[in-house]
Amino acid sequence: MNKSRYKQRRPWIDAAVISMIALLSISLIFLSHSTKSNANQSTNNGKAPEIIKEESTKESAFPGILIKTEVSNDKYSPYSIQYPQSKVESFNAQINKYIDEQLETYLIAMQENKRIGSKTPGELNIAFEVFPHTSGSYSFVMITGTYLGGANGYTSFNTIHFHAASGKIIEIDDLFGHDESKLIKLSSLVRDNIMKDPSLKDKLLEEEMMLATEPKWSNFEKFALIDDTLVLYFDEYEIANGSAGAPIISVPLAELSEQLVAPFKPTVSVEVLPKPPVEEDSENIREEKEEEKNNGIETETQDDEQTENAKKKQVALTFDDGPDPKVTPKILATLAKYDAKATFFMLGSRVEFYPEIANNVLEAGHELGNHTWTHANLTNMSSDAITEEVSRTNNIIEKSTGETPTVFRPPYGAFNDDMLNVLSLPVVLWDVDTLDWKHRDATQLLASVKSSVHDGSTILMHDIHLSTAQGLESVLAYLTSEGYTFVTVSELD
Ligand code: ZN
Repeated sequence: MNKSRYKQRRPWIDAAVISMIALLSISLIFLSHSTKSNANQSTNNGKAPEIIKEESTKESAFPGILIKTEVSNDKYSPYSIQYPQSKVESFNAQINKYIDEQLETYLIAMQENKRIGSKTPGELNIAFEVFPHTSGSYSFVMITGTYLGGANGYTSFNTIHFHAASGKIIEIDDLFGHDESKLIKLSSLVRDNIMKDPSLKDKLLEEEMMLATEPKWSNFEKFALIDDTLVLYFDEYEIANGSAGAPIISVPLAELSEQLVAPFKPTVSVEVLPKPPVEEDSENIREEKEEEKNNGIETETQDDEQTENAKKKQVALTFDDGPDPKVTPKILATLAKYDAKATFFMLGSRVEFYPEIANNVLEAGHELGNHTWTHANLTNMSSDAITEEVSRTNNIIEKSTGETPTVFRPPYGAFNDDMLNVLSLPVVLWDVDTLDWKHRDATQLLASVKSSVHDGSTILMHDIHLSTAQGLESVLAYLTSEGYTFVTVSELD
């Protein structure tokens, strides 16, 4: 596929390359526009300082858009779902309906597999890319990879377009002023581009292709505006045979300048995508961090000299799948209260949305870890795709905090030799699994830790669940009373 065309935004194309499956019917119901504001979930637990901190936290690097992450570490039917949300209910409803359908289809299929005795685990991975356009609209491209434990995986795309300021959902006919006469040109241009696409050579299903590109709006409803191109997404077997995967066809907007209406008409100079803000004082932060590190080392040395035999017990707290604008700040506040250092294994896709929060984690003296971009099971991926997942995440963390991650944790703890060969960072797993993703119960967190913690333990938690933030204080109080000190995974002896 034409990777080079998309520069920094390639993993969703890699996702298409990853072999996956499951025929999932995609039906989007476009609901009527509504500017009714979505009731924000209250996270007010009555502590004033935390509330202030929360409100002063910039929600996202993409104004008006949040990223939500749901992960199930279930051994048989694991899934990782990331999806956008906004303050506009019709947008959220459309996205949620799609997500619910994908998840339900997957879980039902896996349940059936289990019933017939299949042992192979499946995987559902839904990620998305967001492309801001000069028209003020966002194109969201959802990439769903499904693997049901059989021979093949299946990748499908879905898209949604949204004008953040007005809350209006944009459909393909909006780009052309709802003028059906413009469809002829669109249809013929798409066909031209399909015919000359080298990746589709000898793979085209001609009859199907002609049907799928007939001049009808519904044929082009899966689209994105990416830089100066109109990108169209087709399903597997819709225009080409299975070896072509789910085809992606790009049509330069310039070729449609007669047909497109303002503000989608291409301008002479195409604006570059806005970049998430980079912390200006990253130099200072680096220096501060060094100082903290040095202080830490001095203290440790003294400890060693004075109490060599009565060395304190150590535990490494780790938080995966963040950063999160609501949960991570609460966790940072609790850790600070106990002067505890921890390690945060971040998803690059979330750092892209919340660079400030990632930076706050570093500033507070914690260790930064890489947890991939999309939370995919890397053992199902090509080494190129793995490299992309890891390096893209390293890059966004460095861009947001000024530091590159020092450790890596594979999603689901899944790794193999091929993967280790590709990685340059040390792999860190865990021995105490709090199962916080499953129980979502603040009181259960301490019980899980109590039952299995020992000197040198690495404890797995997730900084995307409020229940984890709420239960953390009791864990810290207990471990402190038991004589533990809190170190990062790299400091652990
Ligand atoms: Zn994870």
